[in-house]
Amino acid sequence: MFDPVEKLKEFIRHPSVSTDPSFKAGMAGAKDFVAGILASIGFEVEVVNTDMHPLVLARRQGRPEWPHVIIYGHYDVQPVDPVALWKTKPFEPTEIDGRLYGRGAADNKGPLMVHIAAVAQLLERNPKLPLRITFMIEGEEEMGSPSFPAFLDRYKEELAQADFVFLSDTGIPSENQVVVTCGLRGLMLFDLEVTGSRGDLHSGLHGGVIRNPIQAIAELCASLHHADGRVNIPGFYEDVLEVEPWERQELAKLDTSEEQYRQFLGVPSFHTPPGFTPFEAVRFLPTLEFNGIGGGYQGEGTKTVIPSKAFVKISCRLVPNQDPRRIRERVYQAIADRMPKDVTYRLVDQHQGIPYIVVPPGRSNTPPDQSPILARAFGALDASVAEVFGRQPLYLREGGSVPIIADIKRVLRLDSMMLGLFLPEDNLHAPNESFNLRVMRKGIEVSQRVLAAVAADK
Ligand SMILES: [Zn+2]
Repeated sequence: MFDPVEKLKEFIRHPSVSTDPSFKAGMAGAKDFVAGILASIGFEVEVVNTDMHPLVLARRQGRPEWPHVIIYGHYDVQPVDPVALWKTKPFEPTEIDGRLYGRGAADNKGPLMVHIAAVAQLLERNPKLPLRITFMIEGEEEMGSPSFPAFLDRYKEELAQADFVFLSDTGIPSENQVVVTCGLRGLMLFDLEVTGSRGDLHSGLHGGVIRNPIQAIAELCASLHHADGRVNIPGFYEDVLEVEPWERQELAKLDTSEEQYRQFLGVPSFHTPPGFTPFEAVRFLPTLEFNGIGGGYQGEGTKTVIPSKAFVKISCRLVPNQDPRRIRERVYQAIADRMPKDVTYRLVDQHQGIPYIVVPPGRSNTPPDQSPILARAFGALDASVAEVFGRQPLYLREGGSVPIIADIKRVLRLDSMMLGLFLPEDNLHAPNESFNLRVMRKGIEVSQRVLAAVAADK
């Protein structure tokens, strides 16, 4: 009999901090542990080496007409600092009041173990289950998945044959309210540097004859938004997906008030573009944000200088159907049009990521072109969450970006079904991380029902 909690404890005992080279043995231990557990339940395991940490690819083959689901997870964890704030030892899993404490318990070892346990128990009951399953478990998620796109390219032909990706690496607001994340924002980041004179100048000897680059960059930045909060760049909103009524209705069911949100942010009031509530704006609208700005003298006291340079770091969050390359062109064009000609400037591209959306079946007025197997999976997820958790799941887009989901869509053309399982009080990335074992048991039940429903009829 497969005991999920005991297995999770073993998993947590391997200190797999991917960003810190001194945890090399823990990384190898965690990788061998998942590889071993999947081999023990009948999977063919391949360890895929990358420039950094290997990926575990484990296959349950079957007839070509059987449905094929990919289950994603990651075996690496965040560093444990500040270790003094932990009440238990981070790599000694400890059960207290129905929670299992330890680094990685909720991100992502617990939720990953939910799916491994579901598969193990399902195959124990029905060894002939007509379903192909591929586990795709990486060891670099907490460092931004640098090897993941190249891995997808390499295994594209095989993996693109699957029907969809199933994973649990997102959150839920409360124990009884499951959220299925069905959209993520994309990204377009860049740096802008403005140069005036060839070096810093004396503001007395030369003040009043040249344009100050700090003034130039400040005026340019100020021009990029309207007073009401909308981005002021021609065509910026042109491709933004129109929000459908079902999405607004879904969001209205969320049990949080705007006032709670305002207090959480610690601001006197919101500054949200017209026609959108704060909860809507953060999910449905693109942004242009200044992440850092500087130039000139920053030290104690005064220094009468006209600086030679000023810089700003800018990021845009994008929503479906915006294309980061088109947005880049438009933003860069606006900067070119507005930059005064008596300074020079330089733009440096940082990274980009495409936005993502999957529309659950039966909701949209314009039904998406989806595989019937994905539609079946969503149907089973909806019904089993309602039965097991006692409440219908909410289907919400999130404001953040999960680059691997967009990469999977871009390279494999596959959609992801994201079943959220961790709670705000699970303390992800912080001291005293834990996973709620009741949520774990319910998650296993839901995952089993979904996989059983997705399997072929015979
Ligand atoms: Zn994670």
